[in-house]
Amino acid sequence: MSKSPVKIVFLGGLGEIGRNCFCLEVEDRILIVDCGIMFPEADMPGVDLVLPDFTYLRENADRIEGVFLTHAHEDHAGGLAFLLRDVSFPIYGSPLSLGLARNRIVEAGMLGRTEMIPVHDGERRMIGPFDCEFIPVTHSVPHAFATAYHTPAGTILHSGDFKLDLTPVDGRKTDLALIGEIAKRSGGIKLLLSDSTNAEKPGFTPSETTVGVSMRNVFRDFPDRRFIVACFSSHLHRVQQVTEEALAAGRKIAFLGRSMIQNVALAREMGFLDLASDRVIDIDEVSRYAPGEVCVICTGSQGEPMSALSLMAAHEHKYIKVSEEDVVVISAHAIPGNESNVSRVIDALHRAGAEVIHDRIAPVHVSGHASQEELKFLLDLVQPDWFVPVHGEYRHLVHHARLAEAVGVRSDHVLVCEDGDVLTIDDTGIEVERRAVPAGYQYVDGIVGDIGLGVLRDRRNLAEEGFVAVIVTVDAVTGELVTGPEIVTRGWVYAPEAEELLEEAKAAVRESLHEAADEGAIDFETLRRHARRSLGKFINERTRRRPAIIPVVIEV
Ligand SMILES: [Zn+2]
Ligand SMILES: [Zn+2]
Repeated sequence: MSKSPVKIVFLGGLGEIGRNCFCLEVEDRILIVDCGIMFPEADMPGVDLVLPDFTYLRENADRIEGVFLTHAHEDHAGGLAFLLRDVSFPIYGSPLSLGLARNRIVEAGMLGRTEMIPVHDGERRMIGPFDCEFIPVTHSVPHAFATAYHTPAGTILHSGDFKLDLTPVDGRKTDLALIGEIAKRSGGIKLLLSDSTNAEKPGFTPSETTVGVSMRNVFRDFPDRRFIVACFSSHLHRVQQVTEEALAAGRKIAFLGRSMIQNVALAREMGFLDLASDRVIDIDEVSRYAPGEVCVICTGSQGEPMSALSLMAAHEHKYIKVSEEDVVVISAHAIPGNESNVSRVIDALHRAGAEVIHDRIAPVHVSGHASQEELKFLLDLVQPDWFVPVHGEYRHLVHHARLAEAVGVRSDHVLVCEDGDVLTIDDTGIEVERRAVPAGYQYVDGIVGDIGLGVLRDRRNLAEEGFVAVIVTVDAVTGELVTGPEIVTRGWVYAPEAEELLEEAKAAVRESLHEAADEGAIDFETLRRHARRSLGKFINERTRRRPAIIPVVIEV
């Protein structure tokens, strides 16, 4: 028996939607399970994406055995290209997950720093000291896994993202029989970690195949109009269903958006998408067909400003302009943080005259995550000794914890954990150490360089209050004003319309600098301070605003 305890270190996904990442530790080795990003919220100006804090992984790089990828969604795989900059490791996952995750890693030039090792449904294999068993689950991307880790401290079951779809598009169901068998075989599940995304939603999540039926109806309702359907490019079952219904309605298909084209090519190559080549046309050929003869399947369901859908809605797309001849179907739901972008695009599409169909109008989208009855079903099937809800905002975790207690998990064995918490698991039970490792948000802007909290705070202030710069030239010997003050502002007042106010502000600064010079304060720092204070006071008294004030003193 190994002396080092089994541990779980939560680096992300417990307290937010996204950044899913935890470490499982056995015999002092680390298996990283998922490494996702989070989309920025509205109060994160200029931030492209948010990563987990990799400090713990950098500091323990020599102990890392590899990464296991439950599925290829960005909130589980999007951070890999960034982590590979710091650490080199192999990535395990289903062939499709690896194929989908690969593009971003290639684009980042990091493919040479990893090896991709496929694992298969129902397979049990050792990854270093980790005895892993891969269980098929249904989700909004094909070939996702739940995983059983058979450790010296007992079996840990991680649901991954899942739902219990009894009629999935590809017939590959969540393998409940295998989960039940593992629970029996291994003498019970010591710990269950389960997806909490929909823990507030009562009932069952409808099957993905219901979307195919809705799409059929929508195509039937508008036989003479052109269709533009936006969905996630990784949701290959959705793409497949839209494709099949469009073909059945006698239409040709054009794919649009870089990741859509890449993923469809991958899916056709791997045999996931059966599509005769003569039914697919290029996007620049669409205009040659009557509206009722085509269907465009595109990206942009999250309202991303530069995506195909946004450009089409704004009449800025090279080949396609949305008009009253179009029916636009948004076959997705906005991820937290993207709501306002999505609603802006829906508005623009209406303005362009299109018929817009989204999930509040017709059932053209279903979630990929289990609702309450499914979550209870899994909890009841597994009957875990301990339970930790994962993947969700804090309120989702709390609701999931309540479900566990409702189906009979002991309340002192239900642990609501957060990012940075560490579990130590042994024969006697589970200890939690709160906030034991750094797990804060790492903000990424551009392709390199994480920006810190300080930069973000500055940006928020600038966004809310703007800035005012005051520039003066002073005599280095006497401290007397030579030129200026000049005032430059963005976001305080609109300068061309506020000349009088700006003149008064200059006068206030000029007066304060004269006073300072009279008192013999001629050093650079004192003058800067005087300029800042007098201007700040003036702005506050006259406008009750607090822009950032940047004094620039030049000595001659
Ligand atoms: Zn997912
Ligand atoms: Zn997820």
